Amino acid sequence: MSGAKCRICRSSDLVEVLHYPRAPRNIERLLNADELARDGAVELRAARCGNCGHVQLPEQLQAGYYEDYLMSHSHAKKMQDFQRRQASEFLDHFQLKGGRVFEAGCGDGQFSAILREMGCEVLANEPSAKALAACQAKGLETIGGYVTAGAFGDLHGTFDAVAARQVLEHVPDPNDFLRELRNLLKPGGAGLIEVPSLEQALENDRFFDFFPDHLSYFTATTLAHVCTRNLFEVVQVRRAMDGEYNEAWIRRTEAPDLAAIRSAAADIAGAFGEFLSAEAAQSRTAAIWGAGAKGVLTLAMVDTASVAYLIDSDPVKHGRCTPVSHLEVLPPQKLAESPVNTVIITALAYKDEISRDLRQRYNFTGKIACLSGGSIVELEPDEPAPS
Ligand SMILES: [Zn+2]
Repeated sequence: MSGAKCRICRSSDLVEVLHYPRAPRNIERLLNADELARDGAVELRAARCGNCGHVQLPEQLQAGYYEDYLMSHSHAKKMQDFQRRQASEFLDHFQLKGGRVFEAGCGDGQFSAILREMGCEVLANEPSAKALAACQAKGLETIGGYVTAGAFGDLHGTFDAVAARQVLEHVPDPNDFLRELRNLLKPGGAGLIEVPSLEQALENDRFFDFFPDHLSYFTATTLAHVCTRNLFEVVQVRRAMDGEYNEAWIRRTEAPDLAAIRSAAADIAGAFGEFLSAEAAQSRTAAIWGAGAKGVLTLAMVDTASVAYLIDSDPVKHGRCTPVSHLEVLPPQKLAESPVNTVIITALAYKDEISRDLRQRYNFTGKIACLSGGSIVELEPDEPAPS
């Protein structure tokens, strides 16, 4: 497997776990007698990723294989009943009735037709012209082409749900496929991803579950992993159809947006300076409470020239100095020796406890303020002087 990489995590740490010297090149297309002379066996080699556990085959299907592909089980009653139950549970859970659904690799459109019958507006997708024709015969709205990055850019953000049943195991780049499906969804949109269960093969020694059409073999865990790494929340993964399938219910999530944090970081120096200037304008002095991570970082970003001193209740820190701001950490008893009018708390997780200690233990009667995002907010006003 030299040079090969994991299809999911791109690790080169692949270990060969299966080798069949004689396998069919594909399993979908049966041959006519006059094609036999050109047919021959291929080797099948499956590898497992040492990094993420993904099991995969190298891609060796001829280009355009799926453009003439139609794999259908919809004639079987058991399959029809299963699909109805599956559609109904999925639509109920995510409250999708009346919603717009994109089905990727919809085959003959059986599942799309069920979704439509249950009240959804469905766009049925297939790269195979033969399959698209079958969908159109059912009166479905269809779109051709493979689900790859940007393939359906005009439709991004317009669907309440996406479905891909028995598709992900075929695609050469599952990350790319899932990212495009995610982009098709509105924020918070739902997804149904169904694949053959690798557990079913493992539990029953099913060597015949491996063939060149299926490039990836997912357990519940590796299916959840590929969904998660493409910014889906995994609502559940369950075995379905007598254990044959792993079915993931997923929801689009957004990448963390740090814009507000960026602006808070840009604001803190100004806000801190203004707070201390306003105190100084009233001839008031201020100390800081908190030499933990949050305090040390904040103090490094602001001008501490007019801070009276820094206190912390942790004796291990006393007598030592903060990096960058170079303030010595003093015990809270300093408040009695050298009173200030205001204490600014940076140890946010303990701010209630510190406020209480300030009032009750150290008899502090001044103003208590607190670091909050990019600003300093007043927590408790000065206690009125006892009359
Ligand atoms: Zn991997």
